[in-house]
Amino acid sequence: MLAIRGLRKSFGGRTVLDDFDLSAEPGEFVALLGPNGSGKSTALRCVVGLETPDGGEIEVGGNAAMVFQKIHLVGRRNALDNVCSGALGRLPLHRSFFFPQDVREEAMSCLERVGLADRALERCARLSGGQQQRVAVARALCQRANVILADEPVSALDPQAAVQVMELLKALAEQGMAVVAVLHQPELARTYAHRVVEMKAMVAA
Ligand code: ATP
Ligand code: MG
Repeated sequence: MLAIRGLRKSFGGRTVLDDFDLSAEPGEFVALLGPNGSGKSTALRCVVGLETPDGGEIEVGGNAAMVFQKIHLVGRRNALDNVCSGALGRLPLHRSFFFPQDVREEAMSCLERVGLADRALERCARLSGGQQQRVAVARALCQRANVILADEPVSALDPQAAVQVMELLKALAEQGMAVVAVLHQPELARTYAHRVVEMKAMVAA
């Protein structure tokens, strides 16, 4: 689960988040909507430690992993290797892309969960955008995340691929994960999310 309470964050004296609350329970898919610059990405980045909050509380029951609009995969490596890299944080010694067998097996089961087991040995650069985003979700699973934070996961995808990724995120929630996705399409949010949270633009002080 995820609980954000009273989160505050400013950049250079400009307040972006002021007393922001957000929660997601296991089994819940929450969509986060709001205008450009309202602090959606900043809020998610605070949860995974990519930004340091100025105040407030963030509680994560387990591991949180992030999925981005711009898909950060190593294109010349295959899907399985990219998913394995999700395990890096718990491997004591690591030589780049030589993953132990147990990690490879776990990564394979993550690829199965996103419906891409048959593409495991395909170079990521040769996968479609939607498939690449599903590999990125599999990598988050291989981080053993139980909270998935997706920042505009479908903004770069065509409508069909977007629907597949939305269905995947919803299915993961229904398997017990807590999922928060920043979306710019209210209709996708209403169709797939269990709950929609709207952020307001901060009024300049
Ligand atoms: P979008 O819908 O465009 O992605 P957002 O809601 O995700 O917007 P954020 O990216 O969280 O918005 O940014 C909120 C505000 O904070 C913006 O005005 C942005 O310019 C500013 N901001 C974000 N990160 C930084 C940073 N590292 N340094 C300075 N300002 C920042
Ligand atoms: Mg953003």
